Amino acid sequence: MTTEYRKPLPNPAHWPASKPFWEAAKRHELVMPRCRRCDKLFFYPREVCPYCLQSDIDWQQVSGRGRLYSFTVIHQPANAAFLDDVPYIYAMVQLDEGPRMISNLVDIAPAEAKVDMPVVAVFDDVTPEWTLVKFRPA
Ligand SMILES: [Zn+2]
Repeated sequence: MTTEYRKPLPNPAHWPASKPFWEAAKRHELVMPRCRRCDKLFFYPREVCPYCLQSDIDWQQVSGRGRLYSFTVIHQPANAAFLDDVPYIYAMVQLDEGPRMISNLVDIAPAEAKVDMPVVAVFDDVTPEWTLVKFRPA
C-alpha cells in the first residue's frame, strides 16, 4: 500500500537547465552539468558555466560517491510537512568528481554522522513524477 506524498516537491526555477538532472534521477542516475568550454563540472544546474560564463553545457554521469562535507541536524523544520522526519540530517556532500550538493543523509542516526565520512547517492522515488537524490553512508 502506498501513502500519498505530502511534502513539497521540487519546483525548479529554470526547468530547461535542470530537466536533465531530474530525468536522470528518475533513472536512478546522478548527472552533473559539465561545461564544454572549460570541462568543469558544477552544481546546481544553470544556463551558464560559473567558471567561464559560457553557455555550452553538457551532462556527465558521476559515481554518486563522495564525502560528507558538512551537515546540520534539523530538529525544527522550516516547513511543517517535515515534522514527522525530525531529527534528520541536512547535508552538504562533496562528490568525488568535484561539485558539492545539498541533500539529506539517510539510513544513519544523526549522532553517528561525521564530517568526511564516505557517502553514496540513493534515489527516493517519492511520486511517479519525482525522484529525490539523497545520500547514505557508503
Ligand atoms: Zn566553463
